[in-house]
Amino acid sequence: MANFPSLAEFFINAPPMTVSNVEKVDHQQAHYYYFPPILIHCNSPECSGERIFRNHERHMATSEWRNYFVIYKCSNCDKSFKIFAIAIHTLNGGAEVQKYGEAPAFGPPIPTRAMSLVGPDRELFLKGRRAENQGLGIAAFAYYRRIIENQWQRLLNEISKVGAKTGLDPAVQQHIEEAKKERQFDKAVKSMGDAIPPTLKMNGQNPIALLYSALSEGIHAQSDEECLELAGHIRVILYELAERLNAALQEHNELDAAVKRLANRKNPAPKSET
Ligand SMILES: [Zn+2]
Repeated sequence: MANFPSLAEFFINAPPMTVSNVEKVDHQQAHYYYFPPILIHCNSPECSGERIFRNHERHMATSEWRNYFVIYKCSNCDKSFKIFAIAIHTLNGGAEVQKYGEAPAFGPPIPTRAMSLVGPDRELFLKGRRAENQGLGIAAFAYYRRIIENQWQRLLNEISKVGAKTGLDPAVQQHIEEAKKERQFDKAVKSMGDAIPPTLKMNGQNPIALLYSALSEGIHAQSDEECLELAGHIRVILYELAERLNAALQEHNELDAAVKRLANRKNPAPKSET
């Protein structure tokens, strides 16, 4: 049984269906719980980051199990909600608490850029992330594998855009273009080799080849734990690739704008002293 030092940590970090002892319940007064403020991600456009959420209701504290929906609201935008379904009872000066579930779903938010990189497969990505959060390694791996199999051409397209914009060596760019034309992922990876804009390399490696190697390894992985680990690697590489693609294009756009602006500036005529 997992133990959480405080109710706030239980709300934030306990996956669904966790039962936990909470040693000390700070927000209990007499026969009532006042659930503590929690710092979690707020999805609203004005927040879009970690914010304090509060619940202002009081809930009976008894030694008998009681079921509650605890509705938290973002204190910053006053718009987003987080709802927990829990059972709780007092125990030895603390409490024993079970989490049934929560909405929005448990787990850290998926970065927007990673989400747009997987494009039409965002639903699969959310499911994969949910499976990963709950330690369902084989499931998480299978979802992520499906995404890569569906989207590798899209990833290559984005890489090719970066290559074209950043003036990649035409011979290297050509390898990427040829890989894009392949119909099978393994052939594309072979044809691409290490042709990749340097700014997208991860520790000197082509991220597409890394994804491919995680997929091939996972197919032969026996245990749930191994699959969970590989699923985590795939996610990390996708997050990082999304960030780097975006950074490379953005940097180039800024540079472009600066060059254009300076080139268009009329050369001021030298002032004559006379
Ligand atoms: Zn908010």
